[in-house]
Amino acid sequence: MNVAIMGAGLSGLACAITLEKMGVTPTIFEKRSQVGDRFVNGEAFLPALNRPIADCYAYLSEKHNIYIQPLSNIRRITVSSENAQATLHGQLGFLNVRGRDRDSLEFQLSKQVKSEIIFNSQYTYENLLQNFTHIVLATGDAAYTAKIQDFRQDLTVTLKGATVEGSFDKHHVGVWLNNNFAPQGYGYLLPFSEKEATITLGYPDYPHNQKFDLKSLWEKYYQRVCRDLQQDLRVTDNFEVTRYIIGICSSPRLGNTFFTGNCFGAIMPAYGFGQLPAILTGIYAAKDLCGLGNYRELIKPLKQSYKYSLALRRAVEKLDNNKLDRLVRLIDTELANNLITNPYINLMKLLGFALRPYQIMKEV
Ligand SMILES: Cc1cc2nc3c(=O)[nH]c(=O)nc-3n(C[C@H](O)[C@H](O)[C@H](O)COP(=O)(O)OP(=O)(O)OC[C@H]3O[C@@H](n4cnc5c(N)ncnc54)[C@H](O)[C@@H]3O)c2cc1C
Repeated sequence: MNVAIMGAGLSGLACAITLEKMGVTPTIFEKRSQVGDRFVNGEAFLPALNRPIADCYAYLSEKHNIYIQPLSNIRRITVSSENAQATLHGQLGFLNVRGRDRDSLEFQLSKQVKSEIIFNSQYTYENLLQNFTHIVLATGDAAYTAKIQDFRQDLTVTLKGATVEGSFDKHHVGVWLNNNFAPQGYGYLLPFSEKEATITLGYPDYPHNQKFDLKSLWEKYYQRVCRDLQQDLRVTDNFEVTRYIIGICSSPRLGNTFFTGNCFGAIMPAYGFGQLPAILTGIYAAKDLCGLGNYRELIKPLKQSYKYSLALRRAVEKLDNNKLDRLVRLIDTELANNLITNPYINLMKLLGFALRPYQIMKEV
């Protein structure tokens, strides 16, 4: 067996680490000149969206011998709508950094990989098919999957973000649900440290959202964040991602090709969380390659989570600002806090069940 991994990101590297532990040495092909050679941004793991996994760092080390460290843990999330605010307390998740930062998640994973990584790769999938018995497609880009097989695209998203300097509590995350600047989407603030944070705005590219001008939405969002934090945040860097695809492939494995991470459909449609599903798909593909599992079976819970998350998105994106205010007031109750922080309650499953009328589950 001769395995090529296309893409040295979360799923590709998790796959390589797992293969190596089982005695298989893959060859990794990476388009960029080094691991994580892209913009720096803060990302989060929220267990409420990944139940039953309560602590993904402990889970990955204990179950899969993959060792990564967060920047910090999340102890407070403040959710703001136009006229309401809610604060959740408890062990709510973890923060990490991505991209060109020596602590980035991809950099941490790459330190556990011994196999060769061929950088500046221009090899196509077709080139690799000729030279390898098995391929793991891990390019982080669902457009690549769509060239090879059916990929059900549920939406694309515009994302604009910035690194800002100010004064932050590194355990405190901010979320904004407000159609005035995040039509059917949301804004969030994830701190890297006491002095730096990422602020990001994301919304779906539905035809009726095309009328919005990203620059003016961003300006409104930035002003609102500054107002709520009572600070003049200084922008030191920024990024934009256009037409970020959210969807799911029809065959996670096609012949001897495994589709992992975003190439599989790792990004959860409700709030765009894809890091843990990406890492898990890499591990599962490696297990199948080593005869220790069946990829199609192992990824079934992720497909199910995708369905629940899509149902949640479809429901929340129907809410106008008044209803978002009501939702936020509902979140600001002891009961909601307990539901969200209780590790024994599978929140996505519960919401998916409650939102049955919105479900398009049978389509997936
Ligand atoms: C702005 C933004 C914010 C996000 N925030 C969160 C968050 O807070 N929490 C969360 O859970 N998820 C978040 N996500 C989603 C999460 O980052 C992704 O789901 C996850 O990184 C996908 O992992 P992957 O392995 O599929 O791809 P990646 O980790 O992106 O890796 C893909 C790798 O493939 C390489 N590559 C691309 N094309 C080729 C090619 N042709 N040949 C060789 N190599 C190639 C790339 O250079 C890259 O190194 C966010 C995404 C974005 C864009």
